[in-house]
Amino acid sequence: MGTFKAIVIDKTETGQQVRSRDFDEADLMEGDVTVRVAYSTLNYKDGLALTGKAPVVRRFPMIPGVDLAGTVEHSSHPDFKLGDSVILNGWGLGETHLGAYAEKVRVRGEWLLHLPKGLTLQQTMAIGTAGYTAMLCLIAIERHGLRCHRGPAIVTGAAGGVGSVAISLLARAGWHVIASTGRPQEADYLKHLGAAEVIERSELTGPARPLGKERWCAGVDTVGSHVLANVLSMTKYGGAIAACGLAGGMDLPGSVAPFILRGVSLLGIDSVMTPRNFRLEAWSRLAHDLDLVKLEAMTTTITLDQVVDAGQAIMEGKVRGRIVVQIG
Ligand code: NDP
Repeated sequence: MGTFKAIVIDKTETGQQVRSRDFDEADLMEGDVTVRVAYSTLNYKDGLALTGKAPVVRRFPMIPGVDLAGTVEHSSHPDFKLGDSVILNGWGLGETHLGAYAEKVRVRGEWLLHLPKGLTLQQTMAIGTAGYTAMLCLIAIERHGLRCHRGPAIVTGAAGGVGSVAISLLARAGWHVIASTGRPQEADYLKHLGAAEVIERSELTGPARPLGKERWCAGVDTVGSHVLANVLSMTKYGGAIAACGLAGGMDLPGSVAPFILRGVSLLGIDSVMTPRNFRLEAWSRLAHDLDLVKLEAMTTTITLDQVVDAGQAIMEGKVRGRIVVQIG
């Protein structure tokens, strides 16, 4: 056994230290599949881990990185063999289990999926947890029985990773997409992805009235707090909002009025522990439904050495779209 290059977070007396260093393969955690990582990505949660802004890291030392795409190097799991192309999103990677900002990971085979047909390893990481979560949101909205003829769909945190993919997916499914952003200078980018209208985040950041003017019948909210409360208060009768994020805060300062007077539903979305069959459905839908030209247009590629700075940037709301981390 040798060493490999990784980004490692160590606990210090004052907080945490993050650096690129050699990691001993013997110190990898338990698992029945070893993967040579080709690509990872940067999600909001990776930014939280890298900056220590929220306690997402549950053991130290930790290798952050919640997503990976790579090739099986060793396996004693019956479903995976040497040379298989695989992906992994969540399951505690980069939080409780040594993660993807590394040349190697050792994981439980049950967490892995075979590379979805129609996508390359690089494209799966351009999608990443952010894009796969956007698809979970769309599926939840559809399962609620909502389709595009019912009215517009709003996407908050529109220029971010989840937001960018959500806009592309909803627009491709025929929805009139209203993109809410704090970066109006990104209006052309958002329209290119499929937004029919771009509104200023400030329209949704004040205290929410119990009921506002009915503006949309569905939505993907990545922001939480006042923004989600306002989105709910402006949701049409019988509509539903898929809530997946907290970029603006974890609170929900609203009233029950949209639920009890308009029959509005709040659809909770968690990507980390999503069961395998639902993941397979989401990835198959992504492979078929996502416009790969738009995916490329929203994606920037960085190296492992640039991850720490990028983690800071995503916390400051400065990252547009998706970031792929090239490792192998
Ligand atoms: P990004 O940073 O790429 O996107 C978040 C966007 O939110 C920003 O681009 C910005 O959009 C907006 N934003 C940032 N800060 C604020 C603020 N203070 N107030 C209001 N809006 C703000 O992150 P991701 O797309 O990777 O993730 C988005 C959210 O979804 C995160 O909270 C993340 O934790 C969550 N998430 C949850 C998952 C789950 O399983 N439930 C899975 C994946 C992500 P703009 O500039 O356009 O306004």
